[in-house]
Amino acid sequence: MKKKLKKMLRRFPVLRSLRLRVVLIIVFTGILPMVITAHSLLGTYEKRVISMRVSEVQTQLRAISNHLISNDFLSNPQNEVINAELEQLASIFDGRILLMNSDLKVVADTYGMSVGKSIVAENVVRCLTQDSEGSVDYNKEDSYIEVTIPVRETMSLEEESSANTAVQERVHGVLLASVSTESIEALSDALGRHTLLMETLIGLIAFVASLLISGYLVRPFDQLIDTIIDIRNGFTSQPIRGIWYTETERIAEAFNKVVGRMRQLDESRQEFVANVSHELKTPMTSMKVLADSLLSDPSTPNEMYREFLQDIDNELDRENKMIDELLNLAKMDQKRAPMNVELIDINALLEYVMKRVRPLAQARSINMTLVSERQVMAEVDETKLSMAFTNLIENAIKYNIDHGTVRVTINSDHKNFILTVEDTGIGIPEEAQSRIYERFYRVDKSRSREIGGTGLGLSITRSAVLLHKGTIEVWSEENIGTRFTVTIPLYYHGSKT
Ligand code: ADP
Repeated sequence: MKKKLKKMLRRFPVLRSLRLRVVLIIVFTGILPMVITAHSLLGTYEKRVISMRVSEVQTQLRAISNHLISNDFLSNPQNEVINAELEQLASIFDGRILLMNSDLKVVADTYGMSVGKSIVAENVVRCLTQDSEGSVDYNKEDSYIEVTIPVRETMSLEEESSANTAVQERVHGVLLASVSTESIEALSDALGRHTLLMETLIGLIAFVASLLISGYLVRPFDQLIDTIIDIRNGFTSQPIRGIWYTETERIAEAFNKVVGRMRQLDESRQEFVANVSHELKTPMTSMKVLADSLLSDPSTPNEMYREFLQDIDNELDRENKMIDELLNLAKMDQKRAPMNVELIDINALLEYVMKRVRPLAQARSINMTLVSERQVMAEVDETKLSMAFTNLIENAIKYNIDHGTVRVTINSDHKNFILTVEDTGIGIPEEAQSRIYERFYRVDKSRSREIGGTGLGLSITRSAVLLHKGTIEVWSEENIGTRFTVTIPLYYHGSKT
């Protein structure tokens, strides 16, 4: 059922329109209560008028019944006065009055058709019983009410044995009045028609009003859509405003944020492309200069050739390193970079990384130590993490002073392992600390170039740490040293409790 409804809504987009819903709500809430009230009032009115008519008839019949008894009409039905009374009553109620005696024989009939005949109707028979109060039957289809009341005589009997008097009642006959309700129904029909006319009129007014109101209510949304389309088509780049409602204001705010973020991404992409081109071009330019100078002078001595070729070779190495790092970064930047997670001995991984970079430290008499506070096994992507560790430790050597120290510590709690890489190097100025993870950012460009830096190492490191759902923090003071702290969950696929 729900699915069918959804399917239908999808097939007919107009059914999903906010405007249509506003129209429906206004029409229904405006008209439905009115229709229900009008019809229930009409029903109550009709019932009330009928019951008033019935009690009027009963009162009149009771009065006549008393006259019948006092004039002994049942034995003497020629009584002119009573007959006139019956005729008058019948004409007032636009109906017919019949009087039956206790043998169910008609004694008087205002239509004069049934005198002398027997009437064996259920309501009449029932009415003859001792304590019947009469009956009322409303026949809506044929528009009449039939009212019967017993013609009862009350007698007082003097008891011989005592002074008490007893009351005895005797039913002598039945008065039956058949009263037309056509006039009541005609009035109620006229009222019904009038109500329907009013309902249609009000319905039409409500419909037109709902169209206008819904148009007015959804106009801010239409305006928002128009502005968004303008932005999409490039006609404007102004932030959009939805000042009418808090809802439109929030949509506008969210939209502006998304657009802002997209612009930021676009700018950083452009900046990245510019940086990549520039960085890749620099070694090319040097190689071109070196090659040109060799070509322009055929008498260049052999040693000079070798020296220049060595320089060209170094530049090629640089270029290669940069391309490798860019490729690594591209792999890690993919939102869903595939993670090859395995349970790895982190201490062993660190030992391996340190062994590889040790020659670099030894060349500058830098002392490297690994402090294993705890044996750590963690679910990590070994390649990515070893790249991150290598960058941090290499930086601690590269930006250290000769005879300095690099101290790597590994520890863990029940959830994460914590790696710190501390050095006694040149430090990072405070204002640069928030930018070191940016691609191609280097505090001192020429120095970094000299020591073979590309400005991509920390970007790669940060991406690798984030892919492991970890964090990286830096503490640094110029000419004192730097400490990087990396915290990574032990279990990549959620904690094991
Ligand atoms: P690079 O290839 O230049 O080393 P990174 O992205 O690894 O690029 O580092 C960015 C910059 O951060 C470096 O150029 C350097 O200025 C600074 N930096 C990184 N690590 C350290 C450190 N341990 N001590 C001092 N400066 C550092």
